[in-house]
Amino acid sequence: MIPAAFEYVAPRSLAEAIGLLERHGPDAKVIAGGQSLIPAMRFRLSTPGLLVDIGRIPGLDILAEEDGVLRIGALVRHADLEHSPLIRRRYPLLAGAARVVADPLVRNLGTVAGSLAHADPAGDWGAALLAARAEVVLTGPRGQRTLALDDFLVDTFTTALEPAELLTEVRVPAPGPRSGGSYQKIERKVGDFATAAVGVQVAVGEDGRCTAAGIGLCAVGPTSLRAREAEAFLVGQPLTEAVFARAGELAAAACSPVADTRGSEEFKRDMVRVLTVRALRAAAAQALAA
Ligand SMILES: Cc1cc2nc3c(=O)[nH]c(=O)nc-3n(C[C@H](O)[C@H](O)[C@H](O)COP(=O)(O)OP(=O)(O)OC[C@H]3O[C@@H](n4cnc5c(N)ncnc54)[C@H](O)[C@@H]3O)c2cc1C
Repeated sequence: MIPAAFEYVAPRSLAEAIGLLERHGPDAKVIAGGQSLIPAMRFRLSTPGLLVDIGRIPGLDILAEEDGVLRIGALVRHADLEHSPLIRRRYPLLAGAARVVADPLVRNLGTVAGSLAHADPAGDWGAALLAARAEVVLTGPRGQRTLALDDFLVDTFTTALEPAELLTEVRVPAPGPRSGGSYQKIERKVGDFATAAVGVQVAVGEDGRCTAAGIGLCAVGPTSLRAREAEAFLVGQPLTEAVFARAGELAAAACSPVADTRGSEEFKRDMVRVLTVRALRAAAAQALAA
C-alpha cells in the first residue's frame, strides 16, 4: 500500500527538531530508521502530516562507554551494536540481542532508540535493555529528563514520551567484574519477530553466589516485562541448575502471553521457562569464568 501524503523535513539540530514537533503537535512524527514507522504508514495505521527526520542531527550517533555507563545515541543502529568490538567484548547480552533483531537489511537502518520509542512488546531491545537496567534520556522543550526504562515503557505502543520530546540516548550501566549476560530468542524463521525471548544479566560475588540479576521478557505481555520475582529469588543463591529451574518457573509465572499464529499461550509460557534457564546458564558460565 501507499502512505497518505506527508511533508518531510530534516533539521540540523536538536533544538530545530524539538521546535518543529512543538509547532506541529500530533500531526508531526519523528522518523529515525523508518523500519516500524514506514510500514505503519504504508498500512495507513499512522498518517502523520509531517515527518521530522532526525538522521542529520549531529551528536546522536554516540556509542561509547564513559564513566561506567554505555551511551547509545538515538541514531545508533541495531547493526552498530552487532558489529561493535566494545559491545561484543563487554556486553554479551546486548550483542546477543543485536544479532537476532529482524534481518541484516532492517538492522542496517533501524535504531535501538526507535525500537524503544515504538514500544512494541515483541521488540527485542525492550527485554534486553530491561534486563540490563537501562535508562533513557528524553529531551524536549523544557530540557532533559532521565527515566528508568521500566517507567518509559507504559503500555503496548505507548511510552512516557511527552509531545515534542525525543528519546536522545539510552544509558546502560557497565557490567562489573564477574558478570555475564545472554539473550535467547525463539522465532519461526530467521528474521521474524520473537515467539518469545528472554534477556538475562547476572553478577556473582567471590563466593559464587548471585549478587545481582536482571531478567527481561519479550513478546509475552502487553509490554516488555521484567521477571521481578525471579530476579529477587536469584540474589543470594548459588548459580546451580536447580536455581535456574526455579527462576525459569518464576519467570514463566510472571508473563501473560496471548495465543496467535506463533503459538499457544501454554507454549509461549513454557518457552519463557526454557529460555530463562538457557540464558541463566550461559550468563552464569561467563560470570563464574570471569
Ligand atoms: C521486516 C521487519 C522485521 C522486524 N523484526 C524485528 C525483530 O525481530 N525484532 C525487533 O525488535 N524489531 C523488529 N523490527 C522492527 C525494527 O527493529 C525497527 O527498526 C524498530 O522497531 C524501529 O526503529 P527505527 O529507527 O526504524 O524507528 P522508526 O520506524 O523511524 O520509528 C518508530 C517509532 O518511534 C518513533 N521514534 C523513532 N526514533 C525516535 C526518537 N529518537 N525519539 C522519539 N521517537 C522516536 C517514531 O516517531 C515512530 O513512532 C522489524 C522490522 C521489520 C520491517
